[in-house]
Amino acid sequence: MAFEVPALPYPYEALEPHIDAETMRIHHDRHHQAYVDRANSALEGTEWADASVEDVLKSLDSLPADKKGPVRNNAGGHYNHTLFWESLSPNGGGAPSGPLGDAIASTFGSFEEFQGKLRAAGVGQFGSGWAWLVHDGSGLAIVGTPNQDAPISAGQTPLLGVDVWEHAYYLKYQNRRPDYIDAWWNVVDWDKVAERYGAVA
Ligand code: MN
Repeated sequence: MAFEVPALPYPYEALEPHIDAETMRIHHDRHHQAYVDRANSALEGTEWADASVEDVLKSLDSLPADKKGPVRNNAGGHYNHTLFWESLSPNGGGAPSGPLGDAIASTFGSFEEFQGKLRAAGVGQFGSGWAWLVHDGSGLAIVGTPNQDAPISAGQTPLLGVDVWEHAYYLKYQNRRPDYIDAWWNVVDWDKVAERYGAVA
């Protein structure tokens, strides 16, 4: 079964004013679609053509040598963007409570310190990439990945990721990546992040 771009769980304009509708439309319909098309093209005819995107990304070293790069980039792009859309909500924002809120406070000092560290990871990512809150098997951590590298390829479970490719923010924020990240917090769906944490913690 070839990969498919999932429908957005909200309208394109739902995340306004923090993320504008035009950016959402281009990002979801064109960029994500391109990752899916290229991943499918790379995997077509291989023994991995029917594998889940998670299995593919955990098995990059097992792929044919000429497929590894295209799959890393494009299956990674598909996986990362699917997680990204699902992590956002027009009813998002605020701070997590419950076990996730407690874990963030005990790991990073406070929710505000956590926000500062994830922001710094995003702002400091040179070129294109992502900043992530992950569970690394023993606890929470903040990591950055270049390009479309996915944390699951490194054995980590991504809980929340901020896309800092220019295509994620340039129409509205131009070169002001920090402003985009500051606005992005307002649409983070902490219920979804807590659900991922509950499945792995
Ligand atoms: Mn993107």
